[in-house]
Amino acid sequence: MPKQNNDINLNNKAENESKLSPEDNFDSDEFEHQKCPMCLKETLQLTEAERDIPYFGKVFLYSMDCTNEECRYHKADVEAAEQHEPTKFVIEVSGEQDMSIRVVKSAEATVKLPHIMNIEPGTVSNGYVTNIEGILNRAKVMLEKVRDTAEEDDDRQKAKNMIKKLQRIIWGSDKIKITIEDPSGNSAIISDKAVKSKL
Ligand SMILES: [Zn+2]
Repeated sequence: MPKQNNDINLNNKAENESKLSPEDNFDSDEFEHQKCPMCLKETLQLTEAERDIPYFGKVFLYSMDCTNEECRYHKADVEAAEQHEPTKFVIEVSGEQDMSIRVVKSAEATVKLPHIMNIEPGTVSNGYVTNIEGILNRAKVMLEKVRDTAEEDDDRQKAKNMIKKLQRIIWGSDKIKITIEDPSGNSAIISDKAVKSKL
């Protein structure tokens, strides 16, 4: 199966852009030589864009990437133009057709993948526009790091099992209930299947 880029990616790399479908093309503004909040050098590239997400509204995307080799600070986030109330979304992912469901995930969101992991908010958390497959792939990448670096056999084995489960879900042969909670209201799972409630 070819590796897909599921994120609407602000990284200005042709490699990523070429994999985006035409509907994902959008204009972005780039500002180079900005002051980096981490290393304080003027090596930060700031990228800003806006995009209309059907059934959610306009969102602003931004990405900060420090080109200083010793720093490599990266932060990305997404913010809805219109104020949304704190919301919880729950979706039963039960087949390959669900992989393309659009997801807006802000840095304030908690993503719960039961028996696998919670993606927690915080300063190192990023926001992005992606889809269900993109969320599952990110969890997979994090578990692959655990698998490759864990000291204990037990931890490595647990990570391996969870990677297998995620792969089965991506292929449509296993299920998962995904919850996204966002007190900022800047996140959404855009599908009739998703159950939305106040947080
Ligand atoms: Zn820096």
